[in-house]
Amino acid sequence: MQQNERIRPGEVWLVGAGPGDPELLTRKAERLLGEADIVFHDALVGPAILALLRADCQIVSVGKRSGRHSKDQASINDLIVAAAQSGMRVVRLKGGDPSIFGRSAEEIAACRQHGIPVRICPGVTAASAAVASGLASLTLRGEARSVTFLTAHARAGESLELDWATHAKGDGTLAIYMGRVAAPEIARELIKSGRAPETPVLIVANASLPNERLIRGRLDALAFLVRAIGDDDPTLMLIGPAVDHVRAGAEADMRGAAPADRRSSAVKPVGRGLRQKALQGRGMSEEH
Ligand code: SAH
Repeated sequence: MQQNERIRPGEVWLVGAGPGDPELLTRKAERLLGEADIVFHDALVGPAILALLRADCQIVSVGKRSGRHSKDQASINDLIVAAAQSGMRVVRLKGGDPSIFGRSAEEIAACRQHGIPVRICPGVTAASAAVASGLASLTLRGEARSVTFLTAHARAGESLELDWATHAKGDGTLAIYMGRVAAPEIARELIKSGRAPETPVLIVANASLPNERLIRGRLDALAFLVRAIGDDDPTLMLIGPAVDHVRAGAEADMRGAAPADRRSSAVKPVGRGLRQKALQGRGMSEEH
């Protein structure tokens, strides 16, 4: 890939919008947005990012918050293909990184089927933003040697059919996307398959956005902890020793980095006093 490749008429770019904060867009993504004639974007792409588009750029929202069916994906593919065939410079703007639970493979296949050139601009995925907000880490030297990106989105009434035995093994970090509803099943199955109940968890809703919320606790309280989060808030759940900020911070301190927890003083009990008390009683905390 050349560094300043421009979008050519009739070409499609799948662009990662990052987790929400416009400053977490790559410079390349920002440039591509400025070149696009038409942008098809997900629900998770907010107004601060759409504000970067040219005034004459056509903006098409193709996102649903959850439960997108394959029929919807097929019509998104058709729209992208039709726009490119009409000679427009097309950007398909996706939350986070297009390669992670972004259905990019289907869109790439549709473009290739019609002989449309297609490229990808990567983005900051929600897991990276979430651990950054928690001053934690996805890996931890000597302890968490792997990161698994998991989706825990199941249709109503269906079980997740994840390989729990594999995911429960070791101390690697699990970064769970779309898992809020399945939180009780996730905690139950992981513990049943051998993960310690006291395994640290970090839950981050709206990572990198002004309404971000962080909740910390233990795996055996996961179902209780996520109840604090609204149905429409994009939420990432991180599980494993690396997301324990005290220890991850201690590691950073050893390398001469900044003090471990800039956020601990930001806990706001006002209006959430009861929950805060309940959390503290269980050795957990909520931060804003
Ligand atoms: N491609 C995206 C993920 C798409 S799936 C990425 O790389 O981040 C959508 C899920 O991502 C949401 O349900 C949520 O679990 C997670 N997510 C996306 N943005 C988020 C944010 N700002 N904060 C927390 N989780 C987020």
